[in-house]
Amino acid sequence: MATINDDCSDLVKPTVSESRTWMCLICGWIYDEAAGDPEHGIAPGTAWADVSMNWTCPECGARKEDFEMVEI
Ligand SMILES: [Zn+2]
Repeated sequence: MATINDDCSDLVKPTVSESRTWMCLICGWIYDEAAGDPEHGIAPGTAWADVSMNWTCPECGARKEDFEMVEI
């Protein structure tokens, strides 16, 4: 009986864009870089660093400095 090495582990999924998630420390609202915030002028895929300094939390009005990166 021949054991055929049938693993597909070399099919490495390319990590195209590692999107990050940021959470409002005041109200817990989540900003997902992949999703953006189109309702407030932030296109999907916008990196946190590229979010306008004038942007504020849609829920509570907190500023970017009140957000912290979270890992899901
Ligand atoms: Zn908030």
